[in-house]
Amino acid sequence: MTDTLPRETALEESGQINTLQHERWNLWRDEQSQNKKRFNIHELLQTEVKLRENAQREVALKDKLAIYQKPPTTDGSLVPADLIQGLRAEVTKLNEEYWMLERKWWSIEGSLIEGPLARGMKLWRSHPKWYMHCVLREDCAERGRCCGRDCGCCSNRHLPKRKFAAGHCTVECHCCEKARGFELSSEKKAQVEKLFDLGVDRGYFKRIRHASLLGLIHLNLDNPFDLIEDPPPRYEAPAV
Ligand SMILES: [Zn+2]
Ligand SMILES: [Zn+2]
Ligand SMILES: [Zn+2]
Repeated sequence: MTDTLPRETALEESGQINTLQHERWNLWRDEQSQNKKRFNIHELLQTEVKLRENAQREVALKDKLAIYQKPPTTDGSLVPADLIQGLRAEVTKLNEEYWMLERKWWSIEGSLIEGPLARGMKLWRSHPKWYMHCVLREDCAERGRCCGRDCGCCSNRHLPKRKFAAGHCTVECHCCEKARGFELSSEKKAQVEKLFDLGVDRGYFKRIRHASLLGLIHLNLDNPFDLIEDPPPRYEAPAV
């Protein structure tokens, strides 16, 4: 176990958070330990997306169930019982999958032993709205998702039993589906995800990694906590 370096303490106390986080990253980058090989950042970030996908699909299914379970419309049309049963069964399955994904996340995160990167992540993610970092918001908005609209979904995505639900849209966001006007097939969802593959070591991954783990932007000197943008929704946020 390594303790916080005196220099880290001094930087934090003097509010030089950007330098602190950059130095922590550089220390981690230059480290040649087994720990570095074991901790898979690609897998960590991909699992976080999967967790949000799961939580967002559950919300979407529950929204649909609420509509289907309303009394029949004036023309007397009824939603088939097997359709409702199918949706309910999927909600149960999602719940089990979430539980497994959560364990997977803890096991990946647990492989990172105490050190500069762990301390950097802890500091950054101690802010309850770290995921509203401008890079992550921009990524969401540029992909035509909720941060590009006024709904405020991403900032309000808190589910009591879903710690990892907080954050940006995935292919399963129901608000995005409504804005898009059509459902995505499983193939299309996979295609979209492939375009933004966090499993590949390229610029996109590096940008998301820096913002997600440490609140940093390459060559930027701003205090990461000043890069959190959390505008209030212009309309009432949908109930989740
Ligand atoms: Zn939305
Ligand atoms: Zn967003
Ligand atoms: Zn969305």
